[in-house]
This record gives sequence, structure tokens and C-alpha cells, in this order.
Amino acid sequence: MTQNEIMKTVDEYVLHTYNRYPLSIERGEGVRVWDTEGKEYLDFMAGIAVYALGYHYPGYDEALKGQIDKVLHTSNLYYHEPLALAAKAVVTSSGLSKVFFTNSGAEAIEGAIKSARKYAWLKDKKNDHEIIAMKSSFHGRSVGALSVTGNAHYQEPFKPLMGGVVFAEYNNIESVKALVNDSTCAIIMETVQGEGGIYPADPEFIREIRRICDEKDILLILDEIQCGMGRTGKLWAYEHYGIMPDIMTCAKALGCGVPVGAFVLNEKVAANSLVPGDHGTTYGGNPFVCAAVDTVFELFRENDIVSHAEAMGKYLADALDAFAARHADKVVAHRGLGLIRGLEFAPDCPVGPITNKALEKGLLIISASNNVLRFVPPLVITEADVDEAVRILEACI
Ligand SMILES: *Cc1c(COP(=O)(O)O)cnc(C)c1O
Repeated sequence: MTQNEIMKTVDEYVLHTYNRYPLSIERGEGVRVWDTEGKEYLDFMAGIAVYALGYHYPGYDEALKGQIDKVLHTSNLYYHEPLALAAKAVVTSSGLSKVFFTNSGAEAIEGAIKSARKYAWLKDKKNDHEIIAMKSSFHGRSVGALSVTGNAHYQEPFKPLMGGVVFAEYNNIESVKALVNDSTCAIIMETVQGEGGIYPADPEFIREIRRICDEKDILLILDEIQCGMGRTGKLWAYEHYGIMPDIMTCAKALGCGVPVGAFVLNEKVAANSLVPGDHGTTYGGNPFVCAAVDTVFELFRENDIVSHAEAMGKYLADALDAFAARHADKVVAHRGLGLIRGLEFAPDCPVGPITNKALEKGLLIISASNNVLRFVPPLVITEADVDEAVRILEACI
């Protein structure tokens, strides 16, 4: 099919829930993709923070092909080796205790919410528990995940949503304290807010939340679906703050291209929440995706991907600082941690036209909220890739 035929057919048959960019991606290699017409693009969005290792990282395809030849799926009623290896990798790297694999980020959030509610219910057998979530957050599109997503536009048409959720302001500890009461069972937040505009947690904010949670036996759920897996320059973003979550969610880069997510519980929650019969999934954690997860962790270790991400994060930060300084009339802020960064543009300079122009000039880049240009490139980018991306952007504004 030609690119036009593909676009026409997709638009004819696929429910219109996305305004897609006018290109059809045919293949990828390293940190670049090619469209159906053969045009090359430097990829600075990585399938929205999925392709941490870029395309066809040595060793990745081989491991997945090997698993295809053995078995793709078994059901969670049986044991399999990829599950053993993937689970061990996630749990030991996170410092937590038990993992449950899901098919997506939203499902990981669902599991985190259910774990927190069950934990609270076992303590007092009440059904009025509250979760404190954050404004401008994003946790996914299923009803439970949407219920803790602080975005009125996403929520409004689907009400009534799950009850028992109240919203505080991110990085405003007083707004959290004002909502804490005896019914509070969990506080859920992204360690770095992604869709909302790339806001890293302030150290004092997240540490004080941890302290409040400890004091009142409230569970801290950290959503690392976008910021985890090495993107911030540490494997898990919470490592920057010297704190631990009670429950952590991850997905996106966890399988570097296969649909997999996870919620991970510390020992206290694992021992006092979900038991057989409480939760399940047909596909979640099947041999194919677990082979991917295990391989990703192995490749991260062998090639020291996280250290590279840290170094590239510094390089990108410097480049964007300089960019922001050169365009002080348009760029009002630069925020981020490692390789998750945002350039906030002035209200009269929307980023939509910039991402469109970048596409024309061979750079894939996306926004976060309306006026923030989002940088979530593959972790394996080089300095030359950063220079090239900045050069293209320079020509776009
Ligand atoms: C993408 C994302 C989700 C939802 O993940 P899906 O796989 O799209 O369901 C949840 N939380 C955060 C922080 C995300 O970035």
C-alpha cells in the first residue's frame, strides 16, 4: 500500500480517537524510522517513551524470535521460565517485593488501586477509603485510571467515575495535607509528571509525602510508567529522592516495544492485599512479553544503558538550556530529569505547529499538554543525535 492508501484506509475503518500525523512508519533502525515513502526521521519521541533501546538493539530481536519458536502464550495457570526471570529482574531492581505483570500502563494503575483498597479494607473492613491523586496528572484511560487522572477534559464525558478520589496540587504539600484524613488509603502520583507538562517532583514535596504516608500507614503509589526504566538517569526515578514507594507502576519502556506493564508491591502490601481470586489477566506476563522484559533488563545491565542515559540527559539539558536562552522571547521554561524534558513555550506560541514543522524536516517530536515540547528520545541517543534534533528545531521556530 502507498502511504496515502494506508492513511485513507485507517481513517475509514479505525475509530477516530487520535489525530494522527500524516505519515505511516514502515521500519526503524537505531534511533531512526522510515515512512512508507522511504523518508527518514530522527525519533525523539520513541513511541512515547517506549523504545528506550531504539529499534533492533543487538540481542533484543534474537531473544524474542527464540521465544516465538518455543511458546508465545501459556496462561497464568502455569509456570514458565520467562516469568521467573522477568519477575526477578523487576523486583530486585526496584527494591520492592512482588510484581504482577499487566498488558498496559492503565492496567498497572488498576492493579495498584485494587491493592491499595484491599490493604485498607483488610485493616478496617470499611468501604469509604479515599485516594489522593494530583491535578494535571495522567494515569491512563480505563475507568479506574481515568478516575485518578487530574484532567477535567479527559474525565468529564465519562462521569460518574470511580468514587473516593480527591485531587491535590502537585508540588504543593499544603494542598495534600488539607486532604489527608482517616479514610485516606493511598496517595498516587507520577514521580515526574509526564503528559501534564514534564514536572519532576520537588524533593521536599515527595519526601514529606513519604513521611505523611509512613506516619498514617497510607500507601504511596508512584507511577513510573513514563519516567521509569532509566529515563531519568536512574533506573527508577524515585532513586533520585532517596525514598521508596509502597506500590510502583511501570509499563512503556519495560518491554521496549511489546505491550507489557507491571505493578510492584513492597513486602508490607504484598503480604496484606491481593490473594488468589482477587485479580487476574489472560495475557498479562505471558512468555513472549516476559522474554522481552528479561532481555531488556539484561541489555540494560550489559551495556550500562542507565549511565548512558544519565550522561545524555546532561548533554540534552545543556543543549535545551542554550536553546531556551537563544529563544527567551518564546521559551518560558525548561524542566526535566535526565532524558525526560520539556520546553514550555509562551501561550502565544503553541507547539502544535512546531511539531508539524519538525515532522516535515525529519524529526519526530511531540508535545505534553498544549504548550510544552516533550523530549523522550531513546536512551541510546548520542551527542550527535541531540545536536541534530536541536538544529532541526532551530529551523522550526
Ligand atoms: C502512558 C502512561 C500511562 C498509561 O499507560 P497505557 O499503557 O497507555 O495504558 C499511565 N501513566 C503514565 C505516567 C503514563 O505516561
